[in-house]
Amino acid sequence: MAPGDEEEHVISVFGSANMDLVAYTPVAPGRGETVTGRSFATVPGGKGANQAIAAAKASGAGAAFIGAVGDDAFGPVLRAALADAGVDVSRLREVPGPTGIAHIVVDDDGGNSIIVIPGANGAVTGPTPQDLAVIARSDALMLQLELPMDAVVAAARAATVPVVLTPAPAAELPPELLAAVDLIVPNEHEAAAVTGHDDPGDALEALLELVPEAVITLGDQGARYGSRTGERLRVPAVPVRAVDTTAAGDAFAGALTVARAEGLPVAEALRFAATAAALSVRRAGAGTSMPARAEIDAALR
Ligand code: ATP
Repeated sequence: MAPGDEEEHVISVFGSANMDLVAYTPVAPGRGETVTGRSFATVPGGKGANQAIAAAKASGAGAAFIGAVGDDAFGPVLRAALADAGVDVSRLREVPGPTGIAHIVVDDDGGNSIIVIPGANGAVTGPTPQDLAVIARSDALMLQLELPMDAVVAAARAATVPVVLTPAPAAELPPELLAAVDLIVPNEHEAAAVTGHDDPGDALEALLELVPEAVITLGDQGARYGSRTGERLRVPAVPVRAVDTTAAGDAFAGALTVARAEGLPVAEALRFAATAAALSVRRAGAGTSMPARAEIDAALR
């Protein structure tokens, strides 16, 4: 795919926006332990906002984000970060109270551990008629589980476009949600939580009992794809020096959804997604680490 070839393909995302409060440390503290870290950063994040930024940058044609921030100092920062990345924030509302935050610890191996406090995300209910109009004009709807489950289910059921679900944080998935999902993209831990199978091959088959298509991401081991029509593919990770794997899965899901919306064959779409995700782990941060379309295309050549 050469830049400029693509038609307008806009992805909509109904999900969370958080301010990530990131502590970088040589080693993460164990329980009851205090360590001296290296540095601290506030970075726009939340799986919904990350996926919107990933999709907007991977498509070059923008994406729409539907969600909520609080009336604190973090809200305008998140709105601006989304808009700067080319995300339409006309359906991002401000609600009373704090913006969602994620407290993230990143160690020197690039590993991370995260506590999410939902804040304004917890106030989001199902999509409004205006939200649904935005979703209907897009090519796909991306969902995650950082909003109240009822809101996620309502959006999935009301959507008239293909629905891509990242089941994170792992939770029990209501049958009415699964019935509305076209593609599920868990990491291996989420796949195990949804299916009860630790082995990714077994988990993939079990996911396909639930939804028509599934991708399990496996960190630096790449990803596995399956469809009910019988296709099974493996995509290797693109080797890079990992600086920060936060939001690698969001980079992967955003780019994959863009590539599928553009009509790429699934093997090429998976390679596009793995390349975007690898580029994102070379940089610190979540939303800020998402690669632009030109970078992904250049890395694929
Ligand atoms: P996060 O929760 O941090 O968003 P995740 O656990 O959902 O990440 P992973 O399975 O770790 O997602 O990674 C998603 C994809 O990113 C992988 O399938 C792979 O293509 C790419 N990736 C992750 N880690 C690396 C790495 N160290 N090197 C290259 N690519 C990577």
